[in-house]
Amino acid sequence: MTRPTRALLKWSNLRHNYRKAREATSHEAYAVIKSDGYGHGMVACANALSGEADGFAVACVDEAVKLRNAGIRQPVLVLEGAYDAEEWEQASEHHIQLAVHHPQQLKDRAEAQLSDDVAVWLKVSSGMNRLGVKLEDAPEMIARIRNDRGLILRHVMSHFATSDEADTSFYEEQKQRMISHAWPVPLSLSNSASVIRGGVAEEKVMRPGIMLYGSSPCEDISALEAGLKPVMTLQSALISVHNVKAGDTVGYGCTWTAPRDSRIGVVAIGYGDGYPRHAPTGTPVNVAGQSCSLVGRVSMDMLTVDITDVPEATIGSPVELWGELVDVDEVARLAGTISYELYCRLTQRVPRINLQ
Ligand SMILES: *Cc1c(COP(=O)(O)O)cnc(C)c1O
Repeated sequence: MTRPTRALLKWSNLRHNYRKAREATSHEAYAVIKSDGYGHGMVACANALSGEADGFAVACVDEAVKLRNAGIRQPVLVLEGAYDAEEWEQASEHHIQLAVHHPQQLKDRAEAQLSDDVAVWLKVSSGMNRLGVKLEDAPEMIARIRNDRGLILRHVMSHFATSDEADTSFYEEQKQRMISHAWPVPLSLSNSASVIRGGVAEEKVMRPGIMLYGSSPCEDISALEAGLKPVMTLQSALISVHNVKAGDTVGYGCTWTAPRDSRIGVVAIGYGDGYPRHAPTGTPVNVAGQSCSLVGRVSMDMLTVDITDVPEATIGSPVELWGELVDVDEVARLAGTISYELYCRLTQRVPRINLQ
């Protein structure tokens, strides 16, 4: 028997979630599949959506070229744009669309020999203040792009800093800053949280990411409430069961003391697989179809669960860490992080199993 730890990937759910995003408004949606498709496999995600996605968005030109080399023909947008002149040339050669967020990128472009026109999206900062030109500098950047015969200005884009929060006041402020401007090309604004909140009527292209994988970024709306289905189910199995007496401790640091005589199950997964080490005692783990609690510290290859109330659980019983039965957003919250990080940190040790 091989190690039972694996990530099942249900691609029909990726398509379901993409359709959910698309149906929220009548807008187009570029599926965000950066960072290896949020750990799900970038090319596999693109292939699963190739029949329906209006386009794909990735972080860097390297990722976009990988998609092209894998035969993906849809529009591909690079959210960070080109890092240098050579990347402008690569973008032109592979018909990759680039965000332009800084005047330096236009200087680099002037040094590049483009083999074909490059479609660009001007990235404006409306409150995130990470990438993007200031609103007041946007008209000059637009003029510079439009005066360049090798560039086609396709969209103006901006990114929300707080659309995941229940208090939507800053989100509304950012929206207002963007839609009150007279732009010469259509807007692209929404990330997943904004799509789940109904999107922005004035935009043309949304950029959903995390929701496609079946997780809700909104603190006040669960994935279930948003009608999303998990693509990834992270599974393992019990490799040992044993009894401890009330007062015995379990695991490194003796951080958990059995409050009663207990039955402990040992699961073949740990932080070496990407399960978060900071998941505390009480984090839900499903064993043999029953909800149980993680107890004690997560180790590199194993973790321990209290299976006292699941007498049928035995060596070989199936375990789910997140997915269909255990909400990834709940695990992330308890571990002090977000589902994005849990997905991205799943390590190569975990085999990915494709289901339709
Ligand atoms: C990552 C990213 C997105 C997608 O964000 P989600 O919260 O995953 O939906 C959209 N736009 C930009 C600019 C991004 O960097």
